Amino acid sequence: MSFSVHGQAVSRGIVIGRAVVVASSRIDVAHYIVAADQIGAELVRLCQARDAVAQEIVRVQHNLGELGTHDAHPELSAVLDVHLMLLQDDTLIGGVTHWINERHYNAEWALTTQLEVIARQFDEMEDPYLRERKADLEQLVERMLRSMRGAASPVAPAKAAPQKGAATDVGPHADVPLVLIAHDLAPADMLQFKQSVFVGFVTDVGGKTSHTAIVARSMDIPAVVGARTASQLIAPEDWVIVDGDAGVVVVDPSPALLTDYGFKRQQGEQQREHLARLKNTPAVTLDGQKIELLANIEQPADVAAALKAGAVGVGLFRTEFMFMGRNGKLPDEEEQYQAYLSAVQGMQGLPVTIRTVDVGADKPLERVGTRAGDDHLNPALGLRAIRWSLSEPLMFLQQLRAILRAAAHGAVSLLVPMLAQASEIHQTLELLARARAQLDERAQAYGSVRLGAMIEVPAAALTIPLFLRHFDFLSIGTNDLIQYTLAVDRSDEAVSHLYNPVHPAVLQLIASTIAQCNAQGKGVSVCGEMAGDVSLTRLLLGLGLRSFSMHPAQILAVKQQILRSDSSRLKAWAHSVLLAEEPAALMAD
Ligand code: PEP
Ligand code: MG
Repeated sequence: MSFSVHGQAVSRGIVIGRAVVVASSRIDVAHYIVAADQIGAELVRLCQARDAVAQEIVRVQHNLGELGTHDAHPELSAVLDVHLMLLQDDTLIGGVTHWINERHYNAEWALTTQLEVIARQFDEMEDPYLRERKADLEQLVERMLRSMRGAASPVAPAKAAPQKGAATDVGPHADVPLVLIAHDLAPADMLQFKQSVFVGFVTDVGGKTSHTAIVARSMDIPAVVGARTASQLIAPEDWVIVDGDAGVVVVDPSPALLTDYGFKRQQGEQQREHLARLKNTPAVTLDGQKIELLANIEQPADVAAALKAGAVGVGLFRTEFMFMGRNGKLPDEEEQYQAYLSAVQGMQGLPVTIRTVDVGADKPLERVGTRAGDDHLNPALGLRAIRWSLSEPLMFLQQLRAILRAAAHGAVSLLVPMLAQASEIHQTLELLARARAQLDERAQAYGSVRLGAMIEVPAAALTIPLFLRHFDFLSIGTNDLIQYTLAVDRSDEAVSHLYNPVHPAVLQLIASTIAQCNAQGKGVSVCGEMAGDVSLTRLLLGLGLRSFSMHPAQILAVKQQILRSDSSRLKAWAHSVLLAEEPAALMAD
């Protein structure tokens, strides 16, 4: 029977596909698609894990027998018998084999998927004894996953980004659109999915500006986050419609609903085609104000989408994605240099703003690490972004050198995230000077950079003159500025109704930052998600913003708004919005 689940609309469009449910396991599991010629190797890993766990059970049984304690521990003997039986039963291994063969999942993913399928069957059983066997199965699967951990997959991606061939080759089922349903997805996992097969995403947790949502948006595929119990309500292989415009997921849709959504989808596609015509149109308002539309990227390959959308540069390269999902093995200077160089060269002479690493909070460096991980009491207020960089000076120097070297090949700006204190500014500048001195010592070429600071903490927004003394330009990170001003976790769906970009306090901080930069002739842009929200374009123009940085997928729609706007007439209106008790009410005008 058809039903729908509601969440937050984070990435536009409508897709219809079959659900792939990523089970949440107590063990962290990698999810990736293996190439057709690697399927055999995945099956071997699966069998080896099964055999290793079976041998372990037999060994324990044998020891119990040797000690003559078999009868003293009847429950333990019974549990071991059940585990052995479950291991040999074809429902588990046969099912896992199916997911590897048919869907090309890596062995760990296939195993957790099959666990999910069987667990649901157990949940429906009348007999309480049988229902409780689910816990045995879970234990068994965990042991197999642990065993696999010791035997890494020959095709497991070594870096955050999977090998292209491995990720796109989905074998015989390439024609079935797949929608990924998960309780949560780490941003690093999302990045792995970037070049993959999924046509839509749904997660139980997350807010509009959580990094998982941001990556989904950058992939330009429909996504709904904060859908609470979606991963429990939706079963593997269910047909689902993801409506990324309305934030709705329709499960098992009726033929009438399918027709309805098919029509909406067609309309969306027509709209996109229409917008594509604006690619080469300069972004100029009706009163002749030139507006800079820049792209946010997560990896060098994203420059293709930036150019395709007509971006006039990269306004935010989130370099941290290169640091994540690598089990703590960070990219060295050379690897970083090559990545930055590739972005600079890929932009064909257009400027590129490279932001220094911003890990921590909802972008943990290591899933189970202690450094800049998510194991702190309050990670968003912890050792995040520049704070972490300054606590790891050797790492930071490496990154600064790599950026300076890339700057020898094009127009590069260096942007520093989350600064809030004068001492952080001074330490950053000292390290930058040291990085230059080190390159001089090595006689290695480097270029000049424009230096920018992100304004994402209210303390920074309230001390703009300090920043303007030290930096060439400022970039307002509204995602964090909203979170820190309103004390609302940007990733927590439970408080997402309070995450309000047009709260008067937020607007005042944005407006005064823009005004102070404009007064001094310093560059200022917005690179948070507000920049790509067409419902806010006129307001930001009215507040004097002339540079917007957003995911390439949003550029053309924002350009359309700009072409229809008269910034001189918007000024008075924007200031009335700013002073309103409920700015949102005026926004609808
Ligand atoms: C922001 O906070 O607005 C921003 C652009 O940085 P990030 O989303 O990566 O935290
Ligand atoms: Mg930020």
